[in-house]
Amino acid sequence: MPSLPETLLCHDAERKYEGAVVPPIFQNSLFTFPDWEAIDNAFDARQENYIYSRGKNPTVDFAEKKLAEIAHADRAILFTSGMAAISAAVLYCVKPNSHIITVKNVYGPTSNFMANYLKEKLNIETTYISGERVEEFREHIRKNTSLIYLESPSSAVFSLQDLEAVAYLAKENNIKTICDNTWATPLFQHPLDLGIDLEVHSVSKYLGGHSDLVAGAVMGKKRDMEVLFAREYEWLGGKISPFEAWLLIRSLRTLPIRMQRHQENAMKVAQFLEKQPQIELVRYPGLPSFPQYELGKKQMSGYSGLLSFQLKTNDINQVKAFYNALKMFHKGVSWGGFESLAYAPAISYLKELPPEQFAQMGISLGDIRISVGLENAEDLIGDLREALTIKFDLPL
Ligand SMILES: *Cc1c(COP(=O)(O)O)cnc(C)c1O
Repeated sequence: MPSLPETLLCHDAERKYEGAVVPPIFQNSLFTFPDWEAIDNAFDARQENYIYSRGKNPTVDFAEKKLAEIAHADRAILFTSGMAAISAAVLYCVKPNSHIITVKNVYGPTSNFMANYLKEKLNIETTYISGERVEEFREHIRKNTSLIYLESPSSAVFSLQDLEAVAYLAKENNIKTICDNTWATPLFQHPLDLGIDLEVHSVSKYLGGHSDLVAGAVMGKKRDMEVLFAREYEWLGGKISPFEAWLLIRSLRTLPIRMQRHQENAMKVAQFLEKQPQIELVRYPGLPSFPQYELGKKQMSGYSGLLSFQLKTNDINQVKAFYNALKMFHKGVSWGGFESLAYAPAISYLKELPPEQFAQMGISLGDIRISVGLENAEDLIGDLREALTIKFDLPL
């Protein structure tokens, strides 16, 4: 097998099907056998055989094998969404009355799942910390801590955690670690190589990359993945569909070239934004001005295209005027697709959180998050420049 991701993702073991360059979609729920003995044998190695598509399916397998290889994992399992993957991975690591440590800027639904659902159903406490110092993790470990859940960079303010140091600390204390690696992708960061137990992804972002699928992934070592497959995967049943796995195989072929372009474009946009007098600050781990730039450089080999900046205003009408003036950036949630997107966290947070809590997250009313797509960077910069100067007519 070729070892470099560009080659690996284009050269498919799946070519054996009638020489088809693109593998077929195995759109079937079950697989048949010639006789009793054959079914009996298949059941003896349930995790290797195609029996029923809630378990294994060949199209899903193709995609999982590719993901596992680029992530340096023994095995990947694909789920119907990022949240299906995350909730399954978390449930694998916890038990009633145990304790979770996570970062305060963790993805919203992940946070709600822990602090609300798990608290209510299983009496599991969650402690939120900034995650910027390893000592902070050590200070919050309790006897019943069973999981340290990381998201580095986090998708709200891009704060990082030292994955290697936290993984080491967790192992010393017999605590499982999960890292949400959606921002960096398995190309730019390898949490498993740094000692993290499980890597989780929203495949709906860069891995899918075309804004046409919702899926999730969990990757890790054989012994963890076998148990997770037999329990949280098969019993909760959040499997990906063969069609979506097939779309993902398509997406993965261009992942390296897409990420390279996202990175180049985002860097140009971030550098432009940083020079604008109407902008208070730009948050992008690839900028030398980013507070945790050195840590990012140590544990990532590249930067993706999601960043945010803060307009120098707390007047919501000015923020709206700027946002509405953007033409090239589509307006919507999510990120990681070919198209550039802009979102203002104030739109959703103001509905859910009191203003003080909003401020505590390190986000302001003037925050704009952009997903820099694959368009020409100069066109994107032109759009931002125009929205900043022409339409942004209220005094700052
Ligand atoms: C989108 C997202 C998720 C959830 O993924 P879905 O595919 O939407 O369920 C989890 N983590 C991060 C960082 C995300 O951005």
